[in-house]
Amino acid sequence: MAYIYDDQNIFAKILRGEIPNRTVLETEHSLAFHDINPQAPVHVLVLPKGSYVCYDHFALEASDAEILDFTRAVGQVCKMLGVQADAAGDGCRLIANAGAHGVQEVPHLHVHVLGGRILGRMLPPAE
Ligand code: AMP
Repeated sequence: MAYIYDDQNIFAKILRGEIPNRTVLETEHSLAFHDINPQAPVHVLVLPKGSYVCYDHFALEASDAEILDFTRAVGQVCKMLGVQADAAGDGCRLIANAGAHGVQEVPHLHVHVLGGRILGRMLPPAE
């Protein structure tokens, strides 16, 4: 089955410049900006500029150049924000929600970069 991209999603509008954002980093194929409703002291979203619904869509169909650019952008953002997990940083969590079970709200791939505090367990206990 094909992935179906809705070009009216809010991140598509941000990428087209129709809605403002607080940009952290822009590269040829990627954009990173602060989440509007931060869940941690550091909460930045990193997006590819291409029309990809979710991470698996991107990983399967993006060009090598897009994948390289996006992967490097995530690393650069971590380092710029001081949440990289090297000797100088305290680390972070990267989250890419996908689809219904992943409870993805905005259907354009974005990686959440969360940090600035201890983030607790990866998932809440199953109900
Ligand atoms: P997800 O559930 O992974 O799709 O997360 C969507 C994220 O987008 C949430 O953390 C929202 O707070 C964030 N968000 C929604 N609208 C905006 C916006 N206009 N600017 C920045 N972040 C947004």
